[in-house]
Amino acid sequence: MPFCARRCVYCDFAIAVRRHVPVDEYVETVERELALRFPGEEHWTAETIYLGGGTPSRLGGEGVARLLEVLRRRVELEPRGELTIEANPDDVTPAAARAWRDAGVNRLSIGVQSFSDDVLRWMHRIHDAAAIGKAFDAARTAGIEDISLDLIFALPNEVDRSWEADLRAALALDPTHVSLYGLTTEPATPLGRWRDRGTITEARDERYEVEYLQAHDTLVAAGYEHYEVSNFARPCRRAGHNSSYWTGSPYAGVGPGAHEYDGSERRWNVDPYVEWMRRVAQGLDPVEARETLDEENRAAERVYLGLRTSDGLRLTGAELVRARDWVDAGWGTISSDGRLRLTVLGWLRLDSLAADLTLAGSRS
Ligand code: SF4
Repeated sequence: MPFCARRCVYCDFAIAVRRHVPVDEYVETVERELALRFPGEEHWTAETIYLGGGTPSRLGGEGVARLLEVLRRRVELEPRGELTIEANPDDVTPAAARAWRDAGVNRLSIGVQSFSDDVLRWMHRIHDAAAIGKAFDAARTAGIEDISLDLIFALPNEVDRSWEADLRAALALDPTHVSLYGLTTEPATPLGRWRDRGTITEARDERYEVEYLQAHDTLVAAGYEHYEVSNFARPCRRAGHNSSYWTGSPYAGVGPGAHEYDGSERRWNVDPYVEWMRRVAQGLDPVEARETLDEENRAAERVYLGLRTSDGLRLTGAELVRARDWVDAGWGTISSDGRLRLTVLGWLRLDSLAADLTLAGSRS
């Protein structure tokens, strides 16, 4: 769902900034894409449905209900399935939350980022800190108990932000799940331009590391499981949808920029909203590209995805030999059945350890 009210300073997604969301046009085009790409009576059972964005909550109570009605003609959610929508705090009104709940939504992922009004203004977020608590209240009153929140860390040096205060404020809301994002400065964003002009200086690696470790210590001490490099959950509250990406499950995707994976081939749609609509209106598949993973890609992906989660990765031969040094360095543990699990210190080096392990595996 590509619409946002305003672009955040760090965002380089292909969003469509709209004051008024064209709900009818969007829902009808999703319906047409489904009919076009999956003709006939094909019907699936799914473990999870995820409305991502952009800002799906901008469809409002009725818009989300209509979109789900369209999806339900094709997809049946398993009895205890997870149905998540990403939401901006301002959009989670009591009426919208009730409508979402009635439409089957049982999980919200709320884009919080910070609890400081100054920081939120600097980010060009459209909500203030007070809206976050109200959103949690509205969701819980409506009966949506499973609520995740996102926070961004490692902000530029010029931004006066207390990471400790933000973590405390997050815990005070008792979310079931927390996702962390280390800020990266993409070139085609306001943030990228500010950096090029010298108005801001990116946080150094040391700050990234300190804040990441601080979040780990704080959230784990509060009873959260650090189950994936960027994600923390209360017991039994891991994100089912995202977990399926990390375990290689197949998924379907519709809408501009949506990705899909059938177990062997990946495909993704064109990003720009107008182009996606134009193609679907002409009866064309809005696919942008397809990719079939070769043996080498699969091996690299198995390692990278396996190391991301606390479930770890079963090692063999040369991989096992290579990873033994990491145990001594405090970057991982290896269980008696040869499963490597990275520690939080290992996750700080995830990219280089995954590359190293892939290389070792390819030589064996
Ligand atoms: S709300 Fe999300 S998708 Fe929209 S502009 Fe901000 S970061 Fe980008």
